Amino acid sequence: MALLDRSEWYDLARDTNWTPRYVSEEELFPNEMSDIFDIPMERWNRYDEPYKVSYREYVKVQREKDVAAYSVKSALERYDFYDRADPGWMSILKMHYGGVIGVEFGSVSTQARFTRFGKGPGMRNMGTFGSLDEIRHTQTQLYFAHELVSRDKETGYQYTWASKALRTNNWVSIAVRHVFEDMEHTRDAVSTAVMTTFSFETAFTNLQFIALSADASKVGDHVFSNLIQSIQSDEARHAQIGIEVLKAMVESGKVAEAQKLVDISFWLCWRQFSVLTGLAMDYYTPLKQREHSFKEFMQEWVIKQFERQLLDLGLKKPWYWNIFLQDIDEFHHSQHIGVWLTRPTVWWNPAAGVTPEEREWLERKYPGWNDTFGRVWDVITDNILKGHPEKTFLEAIPMLCHMSNLAITGVPGKDWRVKVYELEHEGRHYHFGSEVDRWIFLQDPERYKGFKTLVDRFLDGAVQPPTGDGTLDYMGILNEGGVDAHNYAWAEAFRERFDKAS
Ligand code: MN
Ligand code: MN
Repeated sequence: MALLDRSEWYDLARDTNWTPRYVSEEELFPNEMSDIFDIPMERWNRYDEPYKVSYREYVKVQREKDVAAYSVKSALERYDFYDRADPGWMSILKMHYGGVIGVEFGSVSTQARFTRFGKGPGMRNMGTFGSLDEIRHTQTQLYFAHELVSRDKETGYQYTWASKALRTNNWVSIAVRHVFEDMEHTRDAVSTAVMTTFSFETAFTNLQFIALSADASKVGDHVFSNLIQSIQSDEARHAQIGIEVLKAMVESGKVAEAQKLVDISFWLCWRQFSVLTGLAMDYYTPLKQREHSFKEFMQEWVIKQFERQLLDLGLKKPWYWNIFLQDIDEFHHSQHIGVWLTRPTVWWNPAAGVTPEEREWLERKYPGWNDTFGRVWDVITDNILKGHPEKTFLEAIPMLCHMSNLAITGVPGKDWRVKVYELEHEGRHYHFGSEVDRWIFLQDPERYKGFKTLVDRFLDGAVQPPTGDGTLDYMGILNEGGVDAHNYAWAEAFRERFDKAS
């Protein structure tokens, strides 16, 4: 029997927009779940996904991807990379698996939202495959992380956070959940598609999965490099869901609404990824194998591509673009200091990444680093060399941003630039880490006002006892809290200079 070409039957087969007879269209696709912008059904019928695939083809390709990732893993089973790897690199894996796997699992239902509530037949198809993809991402990464659990007995099973992290009240998990619940699970399918598949999956998974994969391969971690490349090949497909949704919005006169969704979600993702990817690239990756700085990757993978895509769609750069460009130079450096100072609260061992050679590199990539962030590291280094590492821990919970849930930070040094953006709303006082975070709150105070940051939870008695140990317990840390990745060896490189000065 002669088989038809896919192009000959695809349009007909995927067109499942039948006229409902037993329920009304509004009951089948309630606006608040499907499309709060009420784009006409006629436009959804023309939703044309550029990536067309049949189920048969999908299964074949995905199977090949899995076979490739698992083969690399088993081929390298006896290669002792993970026994020799720099502790900074192992921390990247721990941070990645814990921070990412819970989001992958959440994305299963995000994509399923498109399958059920998307009004375009093509969107529903893409969502179905997307949902299956996210199950694969959850499972393969859990499997690969599980393998590493037994290698980590001394530090208390930090890799178990691959499955545990997002279910705890760890401060990192609260931050990640606040952003991803907002974008992925609490909006209609149209808004969700723009925020998740366009802003997040187009702009930022590229950064973590492609750029980090390049670093992984240079370091010699071919298992991780292949794994995350395999995942990104699916994410690239998901990104197209949002692009088609944006086209429908723009053509239906919803340009301002589309722009607002993009502006909100791009910033929410940016602040989270600057911590996840920024620390990994500029501080945890061994110096010799660093491919580019985080800033260079942002410029190459995010700014250039994202800017072009926005303009092609008839949208503009977010209104805060200049604030964002400055943030690329600064934000992750202060967040790195914060994470290192609170190392017992995280499930990986933060690498300081500030040997004399690394500081030179940082100064070259971020001119002015020594006079600003470097000043803080001078004090930390002195304390360690004086034999007082206990002075290098934060004693209290820092002030947290109500939107990003990250510490409110600024730029230290001579021009000390730290600013809290405050807001009084219905009798409650809110703190934000930037003008943009406050702006996001103001776009929809009903959505955000009831949320409690870790500081709020501490103050209203949710954390018991309200002590350091009580806080670790609340955050789910048993005995696996982080320590300096290199046991302060990096500070010793300054010993001679220190002895001379004192
Ligand atoms: Mn995924
Ligand atoms: Mn995805």
